Amino acid sequence: MSKARKKYQVDVLVCGGGCAGIAAAIAAARNNAKTLLLERAGFSGGIITTVGLPFFDGIADKKTGRIVVRGIPFELLLKMGRTQPNATHIKPHNPTIKSTEQFKVLADQLLESHGEQIKVLYHTTACEVFTQNGRVSKVLAANKDGLIEIEARQVIDCTGDGDIAAWADVPVEKTKPLMPMTLHFRIGNVRQNPQLHTKAREALIQAEKAGKLPMFYGPGIIYCFADDEAYIHAVRVSGDATDAEDLSRAEMQGRSDAWAMFEAWKESVPGFEKSYFINSGPYIGIRETRRLVGQYVLTEQDIRSQKNFDDAIATGCWYMDRHPNHTTIGTANDSGTGYQPAPYDIPYRALVAQRVENLLVAGRCHSATAAAASSTRVTVTAMAMGQAAGTAAAIAIKAKTSVAALNGVDVREQLTAQGAGPFT
Ligand SMILES: Cc1cc2nc3c(=O)[nH]c(=O)nc-3n(C[C@H](O)[C@H](O)[C@H](O)COP(=O)(O)OP(=O)(O)OC[C@H]3O[C@@H](n4cnc5c(N)ncnc54)[C@H](O)[C@@H]3O)c2cc1C
Repeated sequence: MSKARKKYQVDVLVCGGGCAGIAAAIAAARNNAKTLLLERAGFSGGIITTVGLPFFDGIADKKTGRIVVRGIPFELLLKMGRTQPNATHIKPHNPTIKSTEQFKVLADQLLESHGEQIKVLYHTTACEVFTQNGRVSKVLAANKDGLIEIEARQVIDCTGDGDIAAWADVPVEKTKPLMPMTLHFRIGNVRQNPQLHTKAREALIQAEKAGKLPMFYGPGIIYCFADDEAYIHAVRVSGDATDAEDLSRAEMQGRSDAWAMFEAWKESVPGFEKSYFINSGPYIGIRETRRLVGQYVLTEQDIRSQKNFDDAIATGCWYMDRHPNHTTIGTANDSGTGYQPAPYDIPYRALVAQRVENLLVAGRCHSATAAAASSTRVTVTAMAMGQAAGTAAAIAIKAKTSVAALNGVDVREQLTAQGAGPFT
């Protein structure tokens, strides 16, 4: 039997402090639940800070620019100075934030502003789950205290990988092949010029032919942080990030590929002569691993037909962005069908686990088919699901019931009353 060196008892445990997890913890605390947030990294923000990605995709409908997600993601965007309090529309529909480092501080401040209601444990990885009588009874996590034990009335899995759901033995699924992983990186002192992108792409084609790169896409070269700083997404590594050995191999491959790209460009692409490699990661970006098979599985057909759900708790609007496991050159064929839906409903039941009554799953590992999740997985949509999950957990505690027994319509109404709507 494992020896826990520290024990916590809370109303709501949120595992994973990424896009969904920050919103889940804040929403639970604001709705009066004593909340504990565990995050494996030394900071929160998930993809935004662990990968360094500045995109707030899913905030607005591409066609009209209408803001379709408000609540905590909107609040974060507002604090980053990228929108106005009464804005109904935003341009572009996919805003970027200026600093992912500032986002770390902002997320800390927002979490700390809830005082005793939220305890944050960074450098803490959830690592085991116990169930009893149809409930998650205990979660174990590892940090510098050793093994710690948490008893929570409601648990929210925001790990991206559905770790808690998998270890609680509730139904989850993994699509084969999984979408590839990508290590993002930044190159400084780049001189922009009209030929740079074409030449950079040619250099990658040559590097692949010469056996220096196994595969790549794009390349995506964006100057979102400074005019002379290229933010690159082009690495593509196959693998299963829920397999520790495979994930370690992928990190090494990603680093090696990023460096090979930098060297190829510095050697032959005008504009990169005096450039230097600023940084990567610090984590490789994981697009897809496990997904919950919950009370409802959202499908591509639901999205295409804009199916209305009484228990809609979030709105999705991003295109179907499914990366293949081979080189794709340019951007047109990078991301599967690329189908652009009109804003659509995500139902509460797509967050609710089967078999155990006190477990919700929010973010990219919620319950959806692979095709549907290729749209719902983006940052703002994940945050919206997180806010719904945190709100639901707090409602369940107040009503002395469980999240599985809740009527999602009540969650929707509470979110609407708190300004987190509209839903489609
Ligand atoms: C390479 C790449 C590019 C992308 N590009 C875009 C884009 O341009 N625009 C966009 O909007 N979206 C993009 N996405 C998708 C989107 O960013 C993610 O799907 C989104 O972050 C999902 O949010 P999440 O909260 O589910 O996961 P994450 O934001 O990844 O958060 C999960 C958190 O859980 C933590 N964690 C994991 N396991 C544990 C554990 N056992 N215990 C404790 N903590 C744990 C992690 O450290 C992380 O902080 C991209 C994704 C990738 C991988």
